[in-house]
Amino acid sequence: MRRLLALLVAVSLVAGCDSGGGGTPEPKPRPSPAITDQELGEHLDALQRIANDNGGTRAVGTHGYEASADYVAARLRDAGWTVSRQAVRFTYFRLDRASVAIGGRTLTRARQFQVLSYSGSGRAEGRLRASGDGCEAEDFDELEGGEIPLVDRSGCFFRQKAAAAERAGADALVVDEPVRSRRGVPSGTLAVPGIAIPVVLVSARALGEAGDGTPASVMVDAISRGGRAENVIAETPGGSGDRIVMAGGHLDSVAGGPGINDNGSGAATLIEAAEAIGPKPPGARVRLGFWTAEEVGLYGSRQYVRSLDEGERRRIRAYINLDMVGSPNAVPELYGDGDAGLGHVLRRAYGGRLGQIRAGQSSDHASFQAAGIPINGLYTGSDEPGRGGRPRDPCYHLSCDTVRNVNRRVLLRMARTTARALLTLSARHR
Ligand SMILES: [Zn+2]
Repeated sequence: MRRLLALLVAVSLVAGCDSGGGGTPEPKPRPSPAITDQELGEHLDALQRIANDNGGTRAVGTHGYEASADYVAARLRDAGWTVSRQAVRFTYFRLDRASVAIGGRTLTRARQFQVLSYSGSGRAEGRLRASGDGCEAEDFDELEGGEIPLVDRSGCFFRQKAAAAERAGADALVVDEPVRSRRGVPSGTLAVPGIAIPVVLVSARALGEAGDGTPASVMVDAISRGGRAENVIAETPGGSGDRIVMAGGHLDSVAGGPGINDNGSGAATLIEAAEAIGPKPPGARVRLGFWTAEEVGLYGSRQYVRSLDEGERRRIRAYINLDMVGSPNAVPELYGDGDAGLGHVLRRAYGGRLGQIRAGQSSDHASFQAAGIPINGLYTGSDEPGRGGRPRDPCYHLSCDTVRNVNRRVLLRMARTTARALLTLSARHR
Protein backbone atom coordinates (compact mmCIF):
# COMPACT_ATOMS: atom_id res chain seq x y z
CA MET A 1 0.00 0.00 0.00
CA ARG A 2 1.31 3.41 -0.86
CA ARG A 3 1.21 5.83 2.12
CA LEU A 4 -2.32 7.01 3.11
CA LEU A 5 -3.84 9.98 4.93
CA ALA A 6 -5.60 8.19 7.82
CA LEU A 7 -9.10 9.31 8.80
CA LEU A 8 -10.11 7.20 11.73
CA VAL A 9 -13.79 6.83 12.45
CA ALA A 10 -14.76 3.79 14.44
CA VAL A 11 -18.13 2.36 13.66
CA SER A 12 -19.31 -0.40 15.94
CA LEU A 13 -22.08 -2.54 14.71
CA VAL A 14 -23.17 -5.74 16.35
CA ALA A 15 -23.99 -8.14 13.52
CA GLY A 16 -27.74 -8.23 12.94
CA CYS A 17 -28.64 -4.97 14.75
CA ASP A 18 -28.18 -2.64 11.81
CA SER A 19 -31.08 -2.42 9.38
CA GLY A 20 -28.57 -0.87 6.91
CA GLY A 21 -29.20 -1.48 3.15
CA GLY A 22 -32.62 -0.01 2.30
CA GLY A 23 -35.94 -1.99 2.25
CA THR A 24 -34.90 -5.50 1.13
CA PRO A 25 -34.14 -7.70 4.18
CA GLU A 26 -30.45 -8.64 4.06
CA PRO A 27 -29.88 -12.42 3.82
CA LYS A 28 -28.15 -13.57 7.03
CA PRO A 29 -24.39 -13.86 6.33
CA ARG A 30 -23.48 -17.46 5.57
CA PRO A 31 -21.61 -19.35 8.33
CA SER A 32 -17.89 -18.57 8.19
CA PRO A 33 -16.16 -20.82 5.67
CA ALA A 34 -13.74 -23.25 7.24
CA ILE A 35 -10.64 -21.13 6.94
CA THR A 36 -8.00 -21.94 9.54
CA ASP A 37 -4.98 -20.12 10.90
CA GLN A 38 -2.81 -23.09 9.98
CA GLU A 39 -3.78 -22.90 6.28
CA LEU A 40 -3.16 -19.15 6.16
CA GLY A 41 0.17 -19.75 7.86
CA GLU A 42 1.21 -22.22 5.18
CA HIS A 43 0.89 -19.54 2.50
CA LEU A 44 2.76 -16.93 4.56
CA ASP A 45 5.56 -19.45 5.20
CA ALA A 46 5.72 -20.33 1.51
CA LEU A 47 6.06 -16.65 0.53
CA GLN A 48 8.69 -16.15 3.24
CA ARG A 49 10.68 -19.12 1.90
CA ILE A 50 10.47 -17.63 -1.59
CA ALA A 51 11.84 -14.32 -0.31
CA ASN A 52 14.59 -16.10 1.64
CA ASP A 53 15.63 -17.91 -1.54
CA ASN A 54 15.71 -14.63 -3.53
CA GLY A 55 17.81 -12.15 -1.59
CA GLY A 56 15.06 -11.29 0.91
CA THR A 57 12.60 -9.80 -1.60
CA ARG A 58 9.60 -10.65 -3.81
CA ALA A 59 9.79 -7.32 -5.68
CA VAL A 60 8.60 -7.10 -9.29
CA GLY A 61 11.34 -7.81 -11.81
CA THR A 62 12.93 -10.36 -9.45
CA HIS A 63 12.72 -14.15 -9.39
CA GLY A 64 11.09 -13.75 -6.00
CA TYR A 65 8.03 -12.26 -7.68
CA GLU A 66 7.88 -14.91 -10.42
CA ALA A 67 8.06 -17.70 -7.82
CA SER A 68 5.25 -16.00 -5.85
CA ALA A 69 3.11 -15.92 -9.01
CA ASP A 70 3.82 -19.60 -9.66
CA TYR A 71 2.89 -20.43 -6.08
CA VAL A 72 -0.53 -18.70 -6.06
CA ALA A 73 -1.38 -20.00 -9.56
CA ALA A 74 -0.73 -23.58 -8.40
CA ARG A 75 -2.84 -23.12 -5.25
CA LEU A 76 -5.75 -21.69 -7.21
CA ARG A 77 -5.60 -24.53 -9.74
CA ASP A 78 -5.60 -26.98 -6.82
CA ALA A 79 -8.78 -25.29 -5.58
CA GLY A 80 -10.45 -26.03 -8.94
CA TRP A 81 -10.37 -22.45 -10.26
CA THR A 82 -9.51 -21.41 -13.83
CA VAL A 83 -6.19 -19.56 -13.78
CA SER A 84 -4.73 -17.20 -16.40
CA ARG A 85 -1.73 -14.87 -16.54
CA GLN A 86 -1.72 -11.36 -17.96
CA ALA A 87 1.46 -9.67 -19.17
CA VAL A 88 2.18 -6.27 -17.66
CA ARG A 89 4.84 -3.82 -18.78
CA PHE A 90 6.40 -1.64 -16.10
CA THR A 91 9.55 0.26 -15.56
CA TYR A 92 12.20 -1.31 -13.44
CA PHE A 93 14.38 0.41 -10.87
CA ARG A 94 17.63 -1.14 -9.54
CA LEU A 95 19.88 0.67 -7.09
CA ASP A 96 23.57 -0.33 -7.37
CA ARG A 97 25.38 2.18 -5.14
CA ALA A 98 24.50 5.22 -3.07
CA SER A 99 26.10 7.43 -0.44
CA VAL A 100 25.02 10.49 1.52
CA ALA A 101 27.10 12.69 3.83
CA ILE A 102 25.65 15.53 5.92
CA GLY A 103 27.88 17.93 7.85
CA GLY A 104 30.84 15.58 7.35
CA ARG A 105 28.92 12.54 8.71
CA THR A 106 28.57 9.59 6.30
CA LEU A 107 25.07 8.17 6.65
CA THR A 108 23.95 4.54 6.56
CA ARG A 109 21.48 3.46 3.88
CA ALA A 110 18.12 2.13 5.04
CA ARG A 111 18.79 3.13 8.66
CA GLN A 112 19.49 6.86 7.98
CA PHE A 113 18.60 7.44 4.32
CA GLN A 114 16.79 5.80 1.39
CA VAL A 115 17.06 6.38 -2.35
CA LEU A 116 13.61 6.88 -3.91
CA SER A 117 12.68 4.34 -6.60
CA TYR A 118 13.26 5.78 -10.11
CA SER A 119 15.74 8.28 -8.70
CA GLY A 120 18.17 9.55 -11.31
CA SER A 121 21.88 8.80 -11.03
CA GLY A 122 24.80 11.18 -10.41
CA ARG A 123 26.86 12.93 -7.77
CA ALA A 124 26.29 16.33 -6.09
CA GLU A 125 28.59 18.04 -3.60
CA GLY A 126 27.85 21.42 -1.96
CA ARG A 127 25.86 23.11 0.81
CA LEU A 128 22.25 22.49 1.80
CA ARG A 129 19.60 25.14 1.08
CA ALA A 130 16.26 24.80 2.94
CA SER A 131 13.54 25.06 0.27
CA GLY A 132 10.20 24.65 2.07
CA ASP A 133 8.19 21.64 0.86
CA GLY A 134 9.55 22.04 -2.68
CA CYS A 135 6.13 21.68 -4.28
CA GLU A 136 6.24 25.03 -6.10
CA ALA A 137 8.86 26.56 -8.44
CA GLU A 138 9.27 29.56 -6.15
CA ASP A 139 10.42 27.31 -3.32
CA PHE A 140 13.74 27.14 -5.17
CA ASP A 141 14.12 30.86 -5.90
CA GLU A 142 16.96 31.18 -3.35
CA LEU A 143 18.87 28.18 -4.72
CA GLU A 144 22.36 29.06 -5.96
CA GLY A 145 24.92 27.06 -7.96
CA GLY A 146 26.55 24.28 -5.92
CA GLU A 147 23.71 24.21 -3.40
CA ILE A 148 21.61 21.11 -2.70
CA PRO A 149 17.93 21.80 -1.82
CA LEU A 150 16.54 20.31 1.40
CA VAL A 151 12.72 20.04 1.45
CA ASP A 152 10.03 18.85 3.84
CA ARG A 153 8.24 15.57 3.21
CA SER A 154 4.72 17.01 3.33
CA GLY A 155 2.56 18.90 0.83
CA CYS A 156 2.77 16.84 -2.35
CA PHE A 157 4.15 13.65 -3.86
CA PHE A 158 7.93 13.15 -4.04
CA ARG A 159 7.75 13.32 -7.80
CA GLN A 160 6.40 16.87 -7.83
CA LYS A 161 9.24 18.02 -5.53
CA ALA A 162 11.91 16.29 -7.64
CA ALA A 163 10.57 17.71 -10.91
CA ALA A 164 10.51 21.25 -9.46
CA ALA A 165 14.06 20.90 -8.07
CA GLU A 166 15.33 19.57 -11.40
CA ARG A 167 13.68 22.46 -13.28
CA ALA A 168 15.37 24.85 -10.85
CA GLY A 169 18.76 23.40 -11.87
CA ALA A 170 19.47 21.39 -8.71
CA ASP A 171 22.02 18.53 -9.04
CA ALA A 172 20.25 16.46 -6.36
CA LEU A 173 17.38 16.68 -3.85
CA VAL A 174 17.30 15.81 -0.14
CA VAL A 175 13.87 15.19 1.47
CA ASP A 176 13.53 15.39 5.26
CA GLU A 177 11.77 12.21 6.48
CA PRO A 178 10.15 12.92 9.85
CA VAL A 179 9.95 9.27 10.96
CA ARG A 180 11.99 9.07 14.19
CA SER A 181 12.26 5.24 14.32
CA ARG A 182 15.31 3.12 15.10
CA ARG A 183 13.96 0.69 12.49
CA GLY A 184 15.13 2.97 9.68
CA VAL A 185 13.72 5.07 6.85
CA PRO A 186 10.70 3.64 4.94
CA SER A 187 11.05 3.15 1.16
CA GLY A 188 9.38 5.59 -1.24
CA THR A 189 9.00 6.07 -4.99
CA LEU A 190 8.94 8.68 -7.77
CA ALA A 191 6.38 6.38 -9.43
CA VAL A 192 7.82 6.51 -12.98
CA PRO A 193 11.29 7.09 -14.52
CA GLY A 194 12.17 10.48 -15.97
CA ILE A 195 13.80 12.34 -13.06
CA ALA A 196 17.51 12.60 -13.94
CA ILE A 197 18.85 13.86 -10.58
CA PRO A 198 19.51 11.76 -7.44
CA VAL A 199 16.65 12.04 -4.89
CA VAL A 200 17.12 10.77 -1.33
CA LEU A 201 15.04 10.59 1.87
CA VAL A 202 17.07 11.39 5.00
CA SER A 203 15.65 10.79 8.47
CA ALA A 204 15.09 13.81 10.70
CA ARG A 205 17.24 12.07 13.31
CA ALA A 206 20.19 11.81 10.86
CA LEU A 207 19.74 15.42 9.70
CA GLY A 208 19.82 16.66 13.28
CA GLU A 209 20.54 20.42 13.18
CA ALA A 210 21.54 20.44 9.49
CA GLY A 211 20.11 23.34 7.45
CA ASP A 212 21.18 26.28 5.30
CA GLY A 213 24.93 26.11 4.58
CA THR A 214 25.57 22.63 5.96
CA PRO A 215 28.05 20.76 3.73
CA ALA A 216 26.46 17.76 2.01
CA SER A 217 27.11 15.23 -0.72
CA VAL A 218 24.79 12.80 -2.49
CA MET A 219 25.77 10.00 -4.88
CA VAL A 220 23.37 7.56 -6.56
CA ASP A 221 24.18 4.90 -9.14
CA ALA A 222 20.95 3.24 -10.28
CA ILE A 223 19.19 1.73 -13.30
CA SER A 224 15.64 2.40 -14.47
CA ARG A 225 14.46 0.26 -17.32
CA GLY A 226 11.32 -1.29 -18.72
CA GLY A 227 10.32 -4.76 -17.52
CA ARG A 228 7.63 -7.42 -18.00
CA ALA A 229 5.80 -9.29 -15.26
CA GLU A 230 2.45 -11.04 -14.91
CA ASN A 231 -0.81 -10.62 -13.06
CA VAL A 232 -2.39 -13.91 -11.95
CA ILE A 233 -6.15 -13.98 -12.54
CA ALA A 234 -8.35 -16.79 -11.18
CA GLU A 235 -12.05 -17.37 -11.77
CA THR A 236 -14.63 -19.93 -10.70
CA PRO A 237 -15.62 -22.22 -13.58
CA GLY A 238 -19.09 -22.26 -12.02
CA GLY A 239 -21.53 -19.40 -11.36
CA SER A 240 -23.67 -17.33 -13.71
CA GLY A 241 -21.23 -15.94 -16.26
CA ASP A 242 -22.92 -12.65 -17.06
CA ARG A 243 -22.12 -11.21 -13.65
CA ILE A 244 -18.82 -11.15 -11.83
CA VAL A 245 -17.85 -10.23 -8.27
CA MET A 246 -14.16 -9.63 -7.70
CA ALA A 247 -11.54 -9.34 -5.01
CA GLY A 248 -7.83 -8.73 -5.39
CA GLY A 249 -4.56 -7.63 -3.87
CA HIS A 250 -0.98 -7.07 -4.95
CA LEU A 251 1.51 -9.91 -4.90
CA ASP A 252 4.77 -7.98 -5.14
CA SER A 253 6.77 -6.66 -2.23
CA VAL A 254 9.02 -3.60 -2.00
CA ALA A 255 12.65 -4.11 -3.04
CA GLY A 256 13.80 -3.73 0.57
CA GLY A 257 11.88 -6.59 2.18
CA PRO A 258 9.87 -9.86 1.85
CA GLY A 259 6.47 -8.09 2.18
CA ILE A 260 4.68 -10.70 4.28
CA ASN A 261 2.11 -8.33 5.80
CA ASP A 262 2.38 -6.04 2.75
CA ASN A 263 0.98 -7.95 1.02
CA GLY A 264 1.49 -11.65 1.66
CA SER A 265 -1.46 -11.30 4.08
CA GLY A 266 -3.72 -10.25 1.18
CA ALA A 267 -2.48 -13.05 -1.08
CA ALA A 268 -2.98 -15.69 1.66
CA THR A 269 -6.48 -14.34 2.29
CA LEU A 270 -7.42 -14.59 -1.39
CA ILE A 271 -6.11 -18.17 -1.72
CA GLU A 272 -8.04 -19.29 1.37
CA ALA A 273 -11.20 -17.49 0.19
CA ALA A 274 -10.92 -19.38 -3.11
CA GLU A 275 -10.56 -22.71 -1.32
CA ALA A 276 -13.49 -21.90 1.00
CA ILE A 277 -15.80 -20.72 -1.81
CA GLY A 278 -14.87 -23.57 -4.15
CA PRO A 279 -15.36 -23.67 -7.94
CA LYS A 280 -19.19 -23.32 -7.79
CA PRO A 281 -20.32 -20.10 -6.05
CA PRO A 282 -24.06 -19.61 -5.21
CA GLY A 283 -24.71 -16.97 -7.91
CA ALA A 284 -22.39 -14.64 -9.83
CA ARG A 285 -18.98 -15.93 -10.87
CA VAL A 286 -16.16 -14.97 -8.51
CA ARG A 287 -12.87 -13.66 -9.93
CA LEU A 288 -9.64 -12.95 -8.01
CA GLY A 289 -6.73 -10.75 -9.12
CA PHE A 290 -3.16 -11.07 -7.83
CA TRP A 291 -1.63 -7.83 -9.10
CA THR A 292 1.96 -7.23 -10.04
CA ALA A 293 4.06 -4.06 -9.70
CA GLU A 294 1.81 -2.28 -7.17
CA GLU A 295 4.71 -1.06 -5.07
CA VAL A 296 6.35 0.67 -8.03
CA GLY A 297 3.21 2.34 -9.35
CA LEU A 298 0.03 0.20 -9.42
CA TYR A 299 1.00 -1.16 -12.87
CA GLY A 300 -0.73 -4.57 -12.67
CA SER A 301 -4.22 -3.46 -11.64
CA ARG A 302 -4.08 -0.48 -14.01
CA GLN A 303 -3.17 -2.78 -16.90
CA TYR A 304 -5.95 -5.20 -15.98
CA VAL A 305 -8.72 -2.56 -15.89
CA ARG A 306 -7.38 -0.96 -19.06
CA SER A 307 -7.66 -4.38 -20.79
CA LEU A 308 -11.41 -4.64 -20.04
CA ASP A 309 -13.90 -3.46 -22.66
CA GLU A 310 -17.05 -1.60 -21.61
CA GLY A 311 -19.13 -4.78 -21.51
CA GLU A 312 -16.60 -6.53 -19.27
CA ARG A 313 -16.49 -3.56 -16.92
CA ARG A 314 -20.27 -3.59 -16.57
CA ARG A 315 -20.24 -7.32 -15.78
CA ILE A 316 -18.02 -6.66 -12.74
CA ARG A 317 -20.49 -5.73 -9.98
CA ALA A 318 -18.01 -5.35 -7.13
CA TYR A 319 -14.27 -5.20 -6.41
CA ILE A 320 -12.95 -5.79 -2.87
CA ASN A 321 -9.31 -4.79 -2.32
CA LEU A 322 -7.08 -6.51 0.23
CA ASP A 323 -3.83 -4.72 1.00
CA MET A 324 -2.24 -5.25 4.43
CA VAL A 325 -4.81 -7.27 6.43
CA GLY A 326 -2.55 -8.69 9.16
CA SER A 327 -0.79 -5.70 10.74
CA PRO A 328 0.83 -6.45 14.13
CA ASN A 329 -0.84 -3.48 15.91
CA ALA A 330 -3.92 -3.76 13.73
CA VAL A 331 -6.86 -1.37 13.48
CA PRO A 332 -9.36 -3.24 11.26
CA GLU A 333 -10.96 -0.89 8.75
CA LEU A 334 -12.87 -0.70 5.49
CA TYR A 335 -12.62 2.05 2.85
CA GLY A 336 -14.81 4.94 4.03
CA ASP A 337 -14.57 6.56 0.59
CA GLY A 338 -15.56 3.30 -1.12
CA ASP A 339 -19.03 2.07 -2.13
CA ALA A 340 -21.37 2.28 0.89
CA GLY A 341 -23.33 -0.83 -0.11
CA LEU A 342 -20.15 -2.91 -0.28
CA GLY A 343 -19.05 -1.36 3.00
CA HIS A 344 -22.29 -2.62 4.52
CA VAL A 345 -21.64 -6.15 3.21
CA LEU A 346 -18.11 -6.10 4.67
CA ARG A 347 -19.32 -4.84 8.04
CA ARG A 348 -21.97 -7.57 8.25
CA ALA A 349 -19.45 -10.20 7.17
CA TYR A 350 -17.01 -8.97 9.82
CA GLY A 351 -19.72 -8.86 12.49
CA GLY A 352 -17.97 -6.44 14.80
CA ARG A 353 -16.24 -3.09 15.30
CA LEU A 354 -14.78 -1.93 11.94
CA GLY A 355 -13.26 1.51 11.40
CA GLN A 356 -13.07 3.53 8.22
CA ILE A 357 -10.09 4.85 6.31
CA ARG A 358 -9.93 7.27 3.37
CA ALA A 359 -8.16 5.04 0.85
CA GLY A 360 -7.87 7.64 -1.92
CA GLN A 361 -5.75 6.35 -4.82
CA SER A 362 -3.32 4.43 -2.61
CA SER A 363 -3.80 0.87 -3.83
CA ASP A 364 -5.14 -1.42 -6.55
CA HIS A 365 -8.79 -0.46 -6.09
CA ALA A 366 -8.03 2.93 -7.65
CA SER A 367 -8.25 1.83 -11.30
CA PHE A 368 -11.52 -0.07 -10.70
CA GLN A 369 -13.03 2.96 -8.99
CA ALA A 370 -11.92 5.23 -11.85
CA ALA A 371 -13.66 2.84 -14.29
CA GLY A 372 -16.94 3.21 -12.36
CA ILE A 373 -16.85 -0.26 -10.76
CA PRO A 374 -18.13 -0.27 -7.13
CA ILE A 375 -15.17 -0.83 -4.81
CA ASN A 376 -14.36 -1.25 -1.15
CA GLY A 377 -11.61 -2.95 0.80
CA LEU A 378 -10.18 -4.20 4.08
CA TYR A 379 -7.09 -2.76 5.77
CA THR A 380 -5.37 -3.03 9.13
CA GLY A 381 -2.75 -0.25 8.89
CA SER A 382 0.77 0.69 7.89
CA ASP A 383 2.71 3.50 9.64
CA GLU A 384 -0.33 5.31 11.02
CA PRO A 385 -0.53 5.40 14.83
CA GLY A 386 -2.49 2.50 16.29
CA ARG A 387 -3.23 1.30 19.83
CA GLY A 388 -0.93 2.85 22.39
CA GLY A 389 0.12 5.38 19.75
CA ARG A 390 2.46 2.75 18.31
CA PRO A 391 2.66 2.30 14.53
CA ARG A 392 0.11 -0.22 13.25
CA ASP A 393 2.89 -1.89 11.26
CA PRO A 394 6.36 -0.91 12.52
CA CYS A 395 7.91 -2.96 9.71
CA TYR A 396 6.01 -1.22 6.88
CA HIS A 397 8.14 -1.43 3.71
CA LEU A 398 11.09 -2.73 5.74
CA SER A 399 13.18 -5.92 5.77
CA CYS A 400 11.53 -6.93 9.05
CA ASP A 401 8.11 -7.38 7.32
CA THR A 402 8.46 -11.14 7.76
CA VAL A 403 6.16 -13.96 8.92
CA ARG A 404 6.79 -12.75 12.47
CA ASN A 405 5.25 -9.40 11.50
CA VAL A 406 1.71 -10.73 11.03
CA ASN A 407 -1.11 -10.63 13.59
CA ARG A 408 -2.54 -14.11 12.93
CA ARG A 409 -5.75 -13.63 14.91
CA VAL A 410 -6.64 -10.52 12.89
CA LEU A 411 -5.63 -12.13 9.59
CA LEU A 412 -7.88 -15.14 10.26
CA ARG A 413 -10.87 -12.88 10.89
CA MET A 414 -10.10 -10.81 7.77
CA ALA A 415 -9.87 -13.95 5.63
CA ARG A 416 -13.20 -15.31 6.89
CA THR A 417 -14.77 -11.88 6.38
CA THR A 418 -13.54 -11.80 2.78
CA ALA A 419 -14.89 -15.26 1.95
CA ARG A 420 -18.23 -14.50 3.60
CA ALA A 421 -18.54 -11.16 1.78
CA LEU A 422 -17.76 -12.73 -1.60
CA LEU A 423 -20.36 -15.44 -1.01
CA THR A 424 -22.95 -12.81 -0.03
CA LEU A 425 -22.15 -10.76 -3.14
CA SER A 426 -22.22 -13.78 -5.42
CA ALA A 427 -25.65 -14.75 -4.05
CA ARG A 428 -26.89 -11.17 -4.35
CA HIS A 429 -25.80 -10.86 -8.01
CA ARG A 430 -27.09 -14.24 -9.19
ZN1 LIG B 1 0.68 -3.01 -0.16
